[in-house]
Amino acid sequence: MSISVWILEDQLLRTHPAVTKALTIATSAEINIVMIESRKAQQRLPYHRKRLALIMSAGRHYAEHLKAQGFTVDYRSAADVASGLRAHCEKYQPSHLLTMAASHYGLRQWQQHVAAEHLALPVEVLANAQFLTSEFDPYPKPEPDKRYLMEYFYRKMRKHFGLLIEPDGSPTGGSWNYDKLNREKLPKGHACPLPPTFEQDSITKQVILEVSQIETAVGSAKDFSLAVTHQQAQAAFDDFLEHRLDLFGPYEDAMTTDEDTLYHSVMSPYMNLGLLEPLSMVEAAIRRYHAGNARINSVEGFVRQIVGWREFMWWQYWRQMPGMREHNHWQATLPVPEFFWSGDTDMNCLKTVIKRVLRTSFNHHIERLMILCNFCVLAGIDPAEVNDWFMSLYIDAYDWVMYPNVIGMGLNADGGLTATKPYISSANYINKMSDFCGTCRYKPKQRHGQDACPFNLLYWNFLVKHESELRANPRMGPNVLALRHLDAEERAIVTAEAEKFLATL
Ligand SMILES: Cc1cc2nc3c(=O)[nH]c(=O)nc-3n(C[C@H](O)[C@H](O)[C@H](O)COP(=O)(O)OP(=O)(O)OC[C@H]3O[C@@H](n4cnc5c(N)ncnc54)[C@H](O)[C@@H]3O)c2cc1C
Ligand code: SF4
Repeated sequence: MSISVWILEDQLLRTHPAVTKALTIATSAEINIVMIESRKAQQRLPYHRKRLALIMSAGRHYAEHLKAQGFTVDYRSAADVASGLRAHCEKYQPSHLLTMAASHYGLRQWQQHVAAEHLALPVEVLANAQFLTSEFDPYPKPEPDKRYLMEYFYRKMRKHFGLLIEPDGSPTGGSWNYDKLNREKLPKGHACPLPPTFEQDSITKQVILEVSQIETAVGSAKDFSLAVTHQQAQAAFDDFLEHRLDLFGPYEDAMTTDEDTLYHSVMSPYMNLGLLEPLSMVEAAIRRYHAGNARINSVEGFVRQIVGWREFMWWQYWRQMPGMREHNHWQATLPVPEFFWSGDTDMNCLKTVIKRVLRTSFNHHIERLMILCNFCVLAGIDPAEVNDWFMSLYIDAYDWVMYPNVIGMGLNADGGLTATKPYISSANYINKMSDFCGTCRYKPKQRHGQDACPFNLLYWNFLVKHESELRANPRMGPNVLALRHLDAEERAIVTAEAEKFLATL
């Protein structure tokens, strides 16, 4: 008997359900594991070379990890997944194939049909085990147009998994959410501890050479230093717990020119590949709180990001697919501006974060949300194009997390199914939370005129344009009320200047 197990590139789990299942019916000598690097998938978009290097190096290291456990691993590069699987089956002649459901909607549909269309053997697709909602789903039968709030989803998750919950069922510290304490600006000259870096071994060096030759890719992987194994990812997480978790909360929303990652964990690249497991991570963070090593607002904030936002986004993706990519509530049609591929703009905030992602393949959450997406909503950039830009450049990008974050939360293009209001702001917020404006050619306090910050022009223009709809949204009330400060003449000036600016993009 010979059984094949097909492991996808983002399923590098310590304990993979398909391997576990295979071991109940065959010995490790009878199990062949197939992993495929699809050249078509690598070239679907102009991906950042660091993203490609991470996926390929972690995959190849995972194959070594399985070999060390006695499995035969058929790790192959193929034109596409179908031809890779066919070639594997021709060589190994398995009696059947086991796999775990993909995180990607399209690929999951394809997995269901793969047996009939491409392989002449039974294929068993096991449930995806990478998310906590596979154990407990707070809303198993969501209504199509209903708006579900992350906050209540999160509380149900906290209760079910017993995270930061007292014996009487109340939230630890007396509150479900400590966000109010998490809005500090980074003090001038404050240096944040850097995440650890890992030396390139021979596998990673080979991968870097290969991705340097992928002509469709962008950026450089030469200085790649991320974790690529379970042990390294765990070491990176332990370092976060020790050196950055305590101040994670207060500076969660801060942005600065000099620091790429501040007190953020930079765990998404590893979690999304399956190298780290969410529940044990939040439990470790909670232990730091109980040991007196991390403040409650940091630990609760971290738990909320993972058990709340991450799981909620996964849940929203499956709830809204297919069709999520086509949402365009604000009827935005402009193409992504060229400077998004170079950072060559005189808007200092955009220049800083775009150059940062081109260099590192990473921006932290508030840079993604309140600089990049904020600009794209206000300027009216086509959501599908924005989504592809993010998909191309980010180290942690996968369909399941990109659609709800970009189309849903970032651009509000789904009409509020994911987030109840558009995350938009004028330069005021950016000036408050960053040091970007101090050295910018534009004036953050000027509403219009030659030196007025384009965020201001676009913000007021957006409010004027969508006033009636925004007024109807209770969460947008205070923003729209501020329109009363603009008389008819000023409205006309702002609109005309915004149009003039948009014509330059
Ligand atoms: C426009 C936009 C695009 C995004 N694209 C991605 C993406 O491609 N991949 C991705 O993993 N996250 C994405 N996010 C969510 C979030 O920005 C990143 O997870 C986070 O910046 C990763 O850095 P970190 O690990 O240091 O996070 P931390 O700030 O340390 O947070 C801890 C963890 O919480 C989870 N998390 C927090 N917020 C979210 C969220 N909104 N959605 C999902 N997980 C969350 C992540 O796993 C993260 O590692 C995006 C957000 C926006 C607004
Ligand atoms: S002034 Fe405007 S464009 Fe310049 S950094 Fe501030 S928000 Fe960005």
